[in-house]
Amino acid sequence: MAVRTGEQYLEGIRDGREVWLDGKRVDDVTTHPKLARMARTMASVYDLQHDPALRDKMTFTSPSSGEPVALSYIVPRSQDDLMRRKRALEIIAGSVNGMLGRTPDYVNICIVAARQMAHVYGRNDSRFGDNMVAYHEYVRENDLCITHTFGHPQVDRSVAVSELADPYIALGIVDTSSEGVIVRGAKLLATLAPFSDEIFAPVYRPLREDAPEDEPYCIGFSIPVNTPGLKFICRQAYDGGKSLYDYPLSGQFDEMDCLATFDNVLIPWDRVFSYRDVPLGNEAVRKVTLWRGYMQQVAVKNQAKLELILGMLHQISDGIGISRFDQVREKVSEVIDILATNNAFLRAAEADAEPVDGGMGEGIWLASEPLMAMRHWYPDAYQRVTQIIQQLCAGGLMLTPSEADINGPLSADIEKFYQGATLQARDRIRLFRLAWDLIGTEFGSRQTLYERYFNGDVVQLRQRRFASYDYSRADAALASFFDRM
Ligand SMILES: Cc1cc2nc3c(=O)[nH]c(=O)nc-3n(C[C@H](O)[C@H](O)[C@H](O)COP(=O)(O)OP(=O)(O)OC[C@H]3O[C@@H](n4cnc5c(N)ncnc54)[C@H](O)[C@@H]3O)c2cc1C
Repeated sequence: MAVRTGEQYLEGIRDGREVWLDGKRVDDVTTHPKLARMARTMASVYDLQHDPALRDKMTFTSPSSGEPVALSYIVPRSQDDLMRRKRALEIIAGSVNGMLGRTPDYVNICIVAARQMAHVYGRNDSRFGDNMVAYHEYVRENDLCITHTFGHPQVDRSVAVSELADPYIALGIVDTSSEGVIVRGAKLLATLAPFSDEIFAPVYRPLREDAPEDEPYCIGFSIPVNTPGLKFICRQAYDGGKSLYDYPLSGQFDEMDCLATFDNVLIPWDRVFSYRDVPLGNEAVRKVTLWRGYMQQVAVKNQAKLELILGMLHQISDGIGISRFDQVREKVSEVIDILATNNAFLRAAEADAEPVDGGMGEGIWLASEPLMAMRHWYPDAYQRVTQIIQQLCAGGLMLTPSEADINGPLSADIEKFYQGATLQARDRIRLFRLAWDLIGTEFGSRQTLYERYFNGDVVQLRQRRFASYDYSRADAALASFFDRM
């Protein structure tokens, strides 16, 4: 199958999957009142690949079928490949203004990066490396949408997963058969799960090599989301079905986050990538740095989102006559700097792209240093952006009557009291409702939380950075300074 249309994508996710929301099982995620608009947004992303003006920019020729397939599935081998992939990412991020972290390209690129490192998965048993390569080809040829889950339930972080009161809180192996591995337990978080075709659950958290009881937790795999025994428990939905004028973001982009629970779920052998080999699993955690692929999507998404925010702040500043104040200009400039810094990190990572695993892997991926610095910097930078929005909008964030008010009996009052220096009331309120949906609503708060945590916990990432950094140049610089004295 070549690239899918939005309608084919929607048809694919009407598959009996077990999604739970508000205490009820969802019959059909494409028609559920709190999920349907997001499903349609995702369908619109799939439709882009069929736009005659975009098709060639978003696809490449499959090396196996000769069909056009999504560029996010390309194994990059040159700068040209990386730049082609980036242009496709830009089209998608632009179409949703960076408001979805998980357009399908994000995990698609994870799968590419995992395939590029298939030799690690296959080191001690070639089947597992072969499975990874075959899986990449399968999802590429079927243009599938994937969610991923890396973590264990947040029950007690002070003990190892095998030490939790119930051995199947964290996902672990129950049994094996000729068909595959049976697993039980839970994984978090599965963003986009109700709208995905597959769930990818690699080994991505280290286990203790000297503790045999940790071995059953060493299992990496991918399966369809409608596999029997697999359930997704949604957080509260943020799309309340209100008009897009009132909730311009919540009403379109609630990508949903779920806990994935597995109740004796069978993982077929050809979908297993890691199995009970803790030293190798830990090596995969260290070396299969999926972010050296997907951070290209992240930075492109950041760019699209920051451009929308900048446009909004620019119009608000002019609209309510505050752009002449120096401190306002300084704050808007700070957002410009954050945007430019994001883009510079990405350009540096692209320009210094390297052969995967020093040439042991397949193709190239982005340079790690700029990406790592960006990964550690961006959560605080984004939080600063949200503070600036709050500081510049101030009480205006509360001057946000609904569309019904604007069209109601008080419309003349609203026109008079809610106007701006250069804006009619309807346009001014629309801008401030956008700002509120970005930082103040449940959707907006989740956006801020997402930017802080989706890419891992910076506290722990920096601890790892401290422990693994090569200090030789820094130490030599200090030694030479003292030598010269
Ligand atoms: C909106 C959103 C979407 C997400 N989507 C996905 C997804 O699609 N797929 C996925 O796999 N994950 C996803 N995540 C999960 C994300 O990867 C985790 O939130 C992140 O790795 C932090 O883990 P945690 O939430 O379990 O926090 P915890 O690890 O429980 O940390 C809680 C607090 O304890 C501190 N802490 C914990 N352990 C230590 C330690 N050893 N040393 C020092 N401090 C410690 C942390 O710094 C933090 O302050 C998402 C998260 C969010 C918020």
